[in-house]
Order: sequence, then structure tokens, then C-alpha cells
Amino acid sequence: MAQARQMHPNMGNSFDRVSIYNNSKGTLTGYDCPKCHNKGNYMAVLNDEEILRPCECMEKRKMLKAIHESGLEEILSQCTFDSFEATEDWQKNIKYKAVKYAEDNEGKWFYIGGQVGSGKTHICTAIVGKLIKAGHNAKYMMWRDEIVRLKAMRNSEDFDDMIAEYKKIKVLYIDDLFKTVQGKQPTQADIDIAFEIINYRYIHKDLITIFSCEKYIDEITEIDEAVGSRINQKARGFNLAVAFDKSRNYRLKEQT
Ligand SMILES: [Zn+2]
Repeated sequence: MAQARQMHPNMGNSFDRVSIYNNSKGTLTGYDCPKCHNKGNYMAVLNDEEILRPCECMEKRKMLKAIHESGLEEILSQCTFDSFEATEDWQKNIKYKAVKYAEDNEGKWFYIGGQVGSGKTHICTAIVGKLIKAGHNAKYMMWRDEIVRLKAMRNSEDFDDMIAEYKKIKVLYIDDLFKTVQGKQPTQADIDIAFEIINYRYIHKDLITIFSCEKYIDEITEIDEAVGSRINQKARGFNLAVAFDKSRNYRLKEQT
């Protein structure tokens, strides 16, 4: 090493510069990185040249930003696969399918319909959490509320930008598709907006869509054939339905 230094008389200065730079503080927030001190990069010397390398924390920052922007920040840490209660066979089956889906979905969609309070939101949130960790941006859409907002903006020039958020995000989680504020039947405007989002995502094959819904997929198809058939086709293999059986226990019927 001493020899090498003698051969490169500038190295001494460079070491100082590298050390000064690497110990200086940056302005990034949200995560306190001991390596780059929140600059997002650090300096290294390669073939006598000082170069800036992106710090590993940038991946973590990207993930934290994705969590924040997903709309699920508050429940993502609670609703994981580990915390999903899976004592009954139907719960084990849901968990098995969801874990499998999160690991390798090949661009398929995930649909879980049926009984309220059966952990549907929990399991879908756990899937979204995994997909964010895998580096994808995700967005949560509570249908009942968002559809009201979208319809109110339908004739405004901002509408295209608003709906584009739901069309183009890599992972979209739609909660309670076609649920309406007062339990009424969805209107043609509801159906048109649903179709615009779902058809865009259907055509762009790398976009992932996850649904938890009180309705079974047949009921979605009854409301609108074009919407239902697209979901049905894309969610093949990951289309789950939770129902009560006669003893008031939940059970799982898998739809194909
Ligand atoms: Zn860092």
C-alpha cells in the first residue's frame, strides 16, 4: 500500500477529500443513513479517480416513499402475512394462495370476494407490502370514496390526470369495487370509470391489480360483463371467495 501511495502522490489529498465528503451531512429525510449521512451517495476512488456511488439506502428510501404514497402506510406494518390469523383450513388456504401470489404472480391479478370481516383487506395489504418491498410502486383505492371524487371531477380538465394515477400505477389495490355510499346499484358513470381503469390495466399486461370485495366475481359480471370478464380472466388461479357455511363458519370456495 505504501508503495502504491508513493506512485500516486495525489492519493493523500484524495483520501482527505473522500473522507471529508463522506462524513459531510446531506439533506435527505425519512431515514437516517449511517453510511452516506443522508446524501444518498458516497465517494470512492477507482483507478485514481474519485467517483460517486449511489448509497444502498436509496433503495430503502424508494421503498419508504412507495409505502407512504401507497395510501396504506398506517396498516402496512400491522397487516403482514405473519400476523394473518390462519388457524382454520380456509384461512390457511387464503394465506397459501396470497403468499404464492406475492412471490410469483406472472402479471396475474388477485381477487378475494365475500364475507365482511374475514381478513380480506388484511391479506391484500400483506400482498401489497410484499410487492412494495420487491420494488414496485403501489396505490390503494377505496372504491366507495374514490369513485365519488372521480365522478365529481369528470368534466374537469384534471380528470385525465386523476384517473391516470389509477390506470398507470404498477400495483393497484381496489377495495370494494362497485360498493356505493348508500348501498345502491352502481350507476352507468360508476361502470364507465371502472371499465376505463380496468381495461387500461388489462391491456397493459405488466400492471398488477388486486381486489378485495364483498361481491363475488359473478356479481361483478352481473353488474357489467366487460369488467367482470376481464377480472375473471386475469385473476385465474388467484380468484378466491369466502362464504358462510351452514354452521356459520367461514369456508373458502375457489373460483376458476
Ligand atoms: Zn445512505
